[in-house]
Amino acid sequence: MKKLLITVLTLWLAIPALRAAETLDLYVIDTEGGKAVIVVPPGGETMLIDAGYPTTDDRDTNRIVAAAQALGIKSFDYIVATHYDMDHAGNIPRLDARIPGRIFVDHGAILPTANTRNKAEFYEPYLKAIGDRKRMIVKPGDVIPLKGVQITVVTAGGEVLAKPLPGAGQPNEFAAGAKPEPIDSDDNAGSVGMLFEFGKFRMLDLADLLQMIEFKLMIPNNLVGTVDLFMVSHHGFKVSNSDLLVHSIRPKVAIMNNGQRKGGEPRVLDTLRSSPGFQDLWQLHYSNSGKDKNAPEQFIANLKDPCEAKMIKVSAQLDGTFTVINARNGFSKTYQP
Ligand SMILES: [Zn+2]
Repeated sequence: MKKLLITVLTLWLAIPALRAAETLDLYVIDTEGGKAVIVVPPGGETMLIDAGYPTTDDRDTNRIVAAAQALGIKSFDYIVATHYDMDHAGNIPRLDARIPGRIFVDHGAILPTANTRNKAEFYEPYLKAIGDRKRMIVKPGDVIPLKGVQITVVTAGGEVLAKPLPGAGQPNEFAAGAKPEPIDSDDNAGSVGMLFEFGKFRMLDLADLLQMIEFKLMIPNNLVGTVDLFMVSHHGFKVSNSDLLVHSIRPKVAIMNNGQRKGGEPRVLDTLRSSPGFQDLWQLHYSNSGKDKNAPEQFIANLKDPCEAKMIKVSAQLDGTFTVINARNGFSKTYQP
């Protein structure tokens, strides 16, 4: 009996020890120019942001499932559908059939400006997949209660924060003369944008948000403040990622979810490099259109198609230190607060 008790106690102690890694870990999965990020804060809960492309061979589903299984994840506490485009919410039903979500987070009804195909092919099947599980429709200012990290919604459904986040709200020095690219006809403008705060570490992920909405978030006052890490919006397309946004939030580091032939546009690469205090860009893929503006090879997870679908991992500490790791070559770099 005593021996059994000791064994049980040892196991019980070992589990928190294993789980008590005091880091926020982000796994940016290669979906060939789609989006899929696994979020693992301390405490045991997990989140998936988008699920890449739906394909008959389940290419992206298999990649996400493999990563989740390696992390011991059997279900996601939260699955965020940032918006109802093919490469974001489009594959959530297929992914959810393999690794189910507990709570689904989205911006509510698809935007009226989105095309009818997205509604029938992605929005409605997403709703059907949720069934009677919990759906959380978020508005700017809402907090998504994933344990171990503070996640504040800054954009959703085309709206932005009504008031600045604590410490932000200064008049924007980059506002003069800035003009946004016009809006397009899909659901990008509705993207759920989130600020992740883990101690002193701050990371902004605006999914595929368009410049028009970036401008509402940054003019006349910067409602977000500055960040350490910026998940480059919209695969590095220039209809997103305005100079105004990027230079205002002053990221040290950016990670871009481009494909070899999708996104990674030269104008965005210029915007990032000319941002005050910017240090490094990491890319999921070499960008054909980026040519000599691509990051140095060691910062790129996949160099050419067909690729090995290598991911980029981020591990952040409470003091604001964070490390980015390229799964292709093991190259890593640590950034100080
Ligand atoms: Zn996209």
